[in-house]
Amino acid sequence: MQKMSNISEMKWDVVIIGAGIAGLTASVYLARAGRKVLLLERAEEPGGRAASKNIADAWINLGPHALYKSACGILQEVGVTPTGATPKPNSLLVYKKTKGGDVALPLFQFLLGSFLKWSEKTQLIRFYAQMQKEDTSILQNINLQKYLETRLPSPRVRNAVLALVRTSTYCSAPDLLSAGAAIAQLQNGQVLYVDGGWRTLVDALKEQALAAGVTIQCGCSARTIAGSEPEMIVSLKDGTILKTHYVLSTLGPKESLALLDPALQPEEAAMFERLVPIRAACLDLVMAEMPKPKTTFAMGADYPWYFSNHSAIAKFSDNPKQMVVHVMKYLRPGADSNAKQDEQELEQFLDLIQPGWRLHVIQRRFLPHLLVSHAVVAAASGGYSGRPGPVVKGRKGLFVAGDWVGAEGMLLGASLASAKSAAQCILKDKDHNKVGDSLGA
Ligand SMILES: Cc1cc2nc3c(=O)[nH]c(=O)nc-3n(C[C@H](O)[C@H](O)[C@H](O)COP(=O)(O)OP(=O)(O)OC[C@H]3O[C@@H](n4cnc5c(N)ncnc54)[C@H](O)[C@@H]3O)c2cc1C
Repeated sequence: MQKMSNISEMKWDVVIIGAGIAGLTASVYLARAGRKVLLLERAEEPGGRAASKNIADAWINLGPHALYKSACGILQEVGVTPTGATPKPNSLLVYKKTKGGDVALPLFQFLLGSFLKWSEKTQLIRFYAQMQKEDTSILQNINLQKYLETRLPSPRVRNAVLALVRTSTYCSAPDLLSAGAAIAQLQNGQVLYVDGGWRTLVDALKEQALAAGVTIQCGCSARTIAGSEPEMIVSLKDGTILKTHYVLSTLGPKESLALLDPALQPEEAAMFERLVPIRAACLDLVMAEMPKPKTTFAMGADYPWYFSNHSAIAKFSDNPKQMVVHVMKYLRPGADSNAKQDEQELEQFLDLIQPGWRLHVIQRRFLPHLLVSHAVVAAASGGYSGRPGPVVKGRKGLFVAGDWVGAEGMLLGASLASAKSAAQCILKDKDHNKVGDSLGA
């Protein structure tokens, strides 16, 4: 950490607000290209939603995190090679029974047993064959509900596919979600559970950023962004004033708007304001053992539920007797939720698939309303092309990055793609003069 007085005397090429994975990644690209970069983080440590916490000697992510292999390319470009393993597709699917109660079906039984009629099985097989070849660019403005209803008349088959879509998008609103974006996410479905949790990605990115010469200041909260390129000013909550050519905000759309002084024109701001965030209720557990150790993954078909024993796949603790298990309810975007009810629902889900689980809990943490992503990729606004940025129209010198930005990817994939793209836009700016010196010099 540098003294704030030193930092405010400099003129920076780029001030990046937020040291989550997007901010850290953009900082590496910019600093390696010779830009003088200041990365500001409100919390005491970098990481944001990718932070993991040590609980009872195990590293636990903020709810279940799986790294899409398609996101690994950018991480590798900035010098980060994640290690971990890929979960096997041996799931349970939970359905409501017609006469009351629930049933948890192993995947092989669902596919090969008598639960589905022959005609339903052929629907599913045909759907999968077509889905792999689908041109997702022409499905961006069709909602997933409509897309599936025309292809999968059986509600049971449709709900099984929706369970998979929820797992890969975290979105429990098929009537809002773009079919093109959802199918693209299924097409590049391979994931990695990262050994040691996502903090290992954050630590490795921080190391690369520092090696490239980025100045990282934690415990610094940005309050306003004023001016436009080449004279932009970022003020901090403690009153410090920072001067810079460019600003990259990696905060959410509404948080980014709230910093702007003056505000954006209404039509520009509307692009940010209409985005609907995705949230989840997460029950994170450190377990001594699991009553049914072979059940390592389960999804609700008739319910928005997820269960995964992440320790069955990757390593989160040096103690072989500790397991990190994540249970989650996907919350409907934009709707109210009841934390108590959601927690009870998740406990009942566990009672069904892991009866007696309570006896083996070492630590539990319930996070009722976690922000997973700042935006549903919405069919109504054209899918990916309806997301703003990374160039902010109407404020020269201001850029944004995050999981709500740009025309590529979802979740961390979008954060990384937009971080790289924002850095490239800044580096390409013709008017730019690299400063690399202090105002006082
Ligand atoms: C439960 C859950 C499960 C998830 N699962 C997956 C998954 O399986 N796969 C996947 O790809 N993604 C997943 N994600 C999403 C993924 O974690 C995020 O997309 C990614 O971490 C976002 O990184 P970011 O840098 O864009 O944003 P953030 O991590 O939100 O970083 C923004 C940073 O800005 C800081 N900040 C805020 N305000 C200020 C201010 N005024 N001044 C300075 N700093 C400020 C914050 O403290 C934060 O560190 C999941 C998220 C959650 C919560």
